[in-house]
Amino acid sequence: MRTRRRVRTQPEAGGVPVNALEIKNLHVTYGSGPGAVPAVRGVGLTVEPGRKLGLAGESGCGKSTLALALLRLLPPTATLSGEILLAGEDVLTMKWGRLRAVRWAGASIVFQSAMHSLNPVHRIGDQIAEPVLLHRRTTPAAARARAGALLEQVGLPAARAGAYPHELSGGQRQRVMIAMALACDPRLIVADEPTTALDVMTQAQILRLIERLVADQDISLLMISHDLAVLADTCDRLAVMYAGRVVEEGPARAVYDTALHPYGHALSAAFPRVGDPASRRAPRGLPGDPPDPSALPGGCTFHPRCPVTLDRCATDDPELRDAAPGRRAACVRIAPAVPS
Ligand code: ADP
Ligand code: MG
Repeated sequence: MRTRRRVRTQPEAGGVPVNALEIKNLHVTYGSGPGAVPAVRGVGLTVEPGRKLGLAGESGCGKSTLALALLRLLPPTATLSGEILLAGEDVLTMKWGRLRAVRWAGASIVFQSAMHSLNPVHRIGDQIAEPVLLHRRTTPAAARARAGALLEQVGLPAARAGAYPHELSGGQRQRVMIAMALACDPRLIVADEPTTALDVMTQAQILRLIERLVADQDISLLMISHDLAVLADTCDRLAVMYAGRVVEEGPARAVYDTALHPYGHALSAAFPRVGDPASRRAPRGLPGDPPDPSALPGGCTFHPRCPVTLDRCATDDPELRDAAPGRRAACVRIAPAVPS
């Protein structure tokens, strides 16, 4: 029988486990001056230890920027402010040596396109062994053995370690990316559209694999997708991002089934529902596109596309606030929750 590995010692404050990830008032801007692109504008999010948070939103809403910011992987043109606490430690003020230690071992990222993230001229076993060698005082032989074991964990035979990326299918390559992400026993995995490039059958297999691995190893997960249905199926909580801000956040099922924000509602209606033939026949598309971050509309950034807009939405820019127990939303129509 497989025994559930216990959470390795987490730093604790007053007996309360420290959150795997806590983002506070994060701003990320590409460039400066009139052409500056404010891609993330004051995001606050929390991933509790061992929990799975889904981050949804259309293309261009700032999801990947946020993911890259978590390990300071953004290009030098990006300026950041706020706090990104990984197991209580602020990534934005970390010294380089500490940051190197935290990458892979504290948190790791699985990107959408394995073909672009894997090196085409190196065998996959060597690529998986690389972070192991970098982070653990171990021999090349031991790192290779670990790579083989990791391949088995993600459902590939260890003998495939000698293959080059082009010799694998898209799903197999994504399994390799997951093996790499697991290589140094991270406490948090960030998966940025990990299944978007895959066909539906493979997508489901990869999602189940990620779910099983994070559960078995008590890893916290931040899963990013434009597909709310995928996230609702996999995650405990959901956050919906629009034009660089979180506009809704709450328990996954509740956000998916009864979104409070008109954007969350439109996004959940835009994708076919599993097991609901009617919605699969007539998925409602969202009209228009998210705004260009360098030219945001005044008022609520969603109001030009909002089906239930009011006059004041053109001028009022609502804050994300408590809307119901455990739920937050940023919409002038939503009455604030009355504190009990
Ligand atoms: P998402 O992952 O939700 O699709 P991104 O974080 O990739 O969103 O992009 C958010 C915004 O930032 C977009 O308007 C995009 O064009 C812009 N952006 C992303 N990367 C860069 C970059 N390196 N330089 C300038 N703008 C960028
Ligand atoms: Mg993206």
